[in-house]
Amino acid sequence: MSRPTSSRPTPPRPAPHVLILGGTTEARRLAADLAARTGVRVTTSLAGRVTRPGALAGEVRTGGFGGPEGLAAWLREQHADALVDATHPFAETITANAVRAAAATGTPAVILRRPGWQAGPGDHWHPAASLAEAAGLLPALGRRVFLTTGRLGLAAFAHLSGLHFVTRSVEPPEPPLPPDTRVLLARGPFTVADETALLRDHRIDVLVTKDSGGAATAGKLAAARELALPVVVVRRPPLPPGADVVSDVPAVLERLERLERLERLGLSGP
Ligand code: NAP
Repeated sequence: MSRPTSSRPTPPRPAPHVLILGGTTEARRLAADLAARTGVRVTTSLAGRVTRPGALAGEVRTGGFGGPEGLAAWLREQHADALVDATHPFAETITANAVRAAAATGTPAVILRRPGWQAGPGDHWHPAASLAEAAGLLPALGRRVFLTTGRLGLAAFAHLSGLHFVTRSVEPPEPPLPPDTRVLLARGPFTVADETALLRDHRIDVLVTKDSGGAATAGKLAAARELALPVVVVRRPPLPPGADVVSDVPAVLERLERLERLERLGLSGP
């Protein structure tokens, strides 16, 4: 007698799942690109620092994972097939966590980092290794400072009582702030004309920025050049050694397409 064969169909394999660590324009672009392809599940993770982060394609999860172990657990539970760290170049901790969690779980990982800015003719840039070093350079460079290093980390400038600061961030900055600070709340992109007007209106004589790179906030650099202002540029933290790093969204798609579960989806095609 032959055994009865089961007529129950095998459950379909879930779609390949890509986790994007986000919070940048490039992460948003990558999510839109992946979510537009059929057969891929894409989740963007946000830290939750911005209260209205704007619409994102695909699924979104918000808040810390609880260190590299928490991220590793998430990757296992959610059956992630690939991890893309597309966080800001200065988001050092989450990038280190991503590399550790990927190694612990055997998840293929790539870091997307937009190129840094380059000084050109007419620029007066002063590199600094940290916010503290940037603060140390300021008194010799100017009296009225446009500080665009983000709303966290202003404490590094809080002791500079003799200088006037104008800061700009999406959300209100975290104290402590320097005593003489004007806070502007705004979200980029900012045009060169707007930035030039802002520098003139506030009679700024020195600009401080992180080397964030990208077009959305590069207008201030052109404006500073136009007005011949010195710019203190805080250098990026180093990337974890041995990490796979690419500089744009098409290069991420090429990397993902090399993975067995994603190779037939034509991710890097037109
Ligand atoms: P960070 O110092 O590298 O990370 C601190 C902690 O925040 C991490 O350990 C992690 O908590 C959580 N975290 C950070 N990014 C996360 C993400 N995308 N999803 C889930 N949890 C995340 O990060 P940060 O510099 O504060 O930046 C936070 C977010 O803002 C990032 O998404 C980044 O892309 C964006 N951003 C940062 C800057 C900047 O200048 N730093 C500028 C623009 C945008 P757990 O350890 O609990 O997982």
